[in-house]
Amino acid sequence: MESEHILSPAAVEEYLRSLPRGIRWRRWASGRRYRVTLFSDRPGPLIVIAHSFRDAAMAQQLAHAVEQDWAAAPERCREAYHEILWKAPGLIVVQLRRRNVCGCLGHRHMLVKETPFAEPHDAFGGARVGEMDIAYKRVETWQALPLSDTALDAKFREGSRLEEFHARQFRLRMLSVLLHETNHLVFPGEEESLVRQRSLGFYHDALASYVENAMATLSLTIDRSFSRLG
Ligand SMILES: [Zn+2]
Repeated sequence: MESEHILSPAAVEEYLRSLPRGIRWRRWASGRRYRVTLFSDRPGPLIVIAHSFRDAAMAQQLAHAVEQDWAAAPERCREAYHEILWKAPGLIVVQLRRRNVCGCLGHRHMLVKETPFAEPHDAFGGARVGEMDIAYKRVETWQALPLSDTALDAKFREGSRLEEFHARQFRLRMLSVLLHETNHLVFPGEEESLVRQRSLGFYHDALASYVENAMATLSLTIDRSFSRLG
């Protein structure tokens, strides 16, 4: 099997900088920005987060999920996506939006619409390009797994740990939508129920493992402060 060409973030950033000045200026003035990122333990696919300058902080959250929360998820969670990520297009454009008219969390796109990536280019080194969208406002209010989410939520009372938990939970939801749509891009014929089971399984297991680790460090801190008293 021929593997995808490996693309570096620097090559894509260089390509974006090398676009004709008029095109670059129009896109910049329209508020379009790009954040290029990679799963930290894999050579590909390269993820290009296309977003409005107003959503730069949100694009940063998604990049954090791809770069760090992915790597922090247990090996067995990541294993479920091994083949999918291996067979994925070398470059995936994620159009990060606030909402979708249809109310969906995200979709895969049949055609690449993001202008700088819509036509093949030498800079992509022959890598295929895929595209999807993610509606982050919808992801924020999404009840992914209401029962287990509530059970995990109850483990943190309030304050900074609860905030940290909610931030991680949100990023893992975005990551699971990204993985879900990548699954659709790679295996368009796979049944929705299976694709969904895989992405919710990833979300659930990654979040549960985060909570387990957080609880372990919490009880360790409590133990230490007790032993100091004794
Ligand atoms: Zn789906």
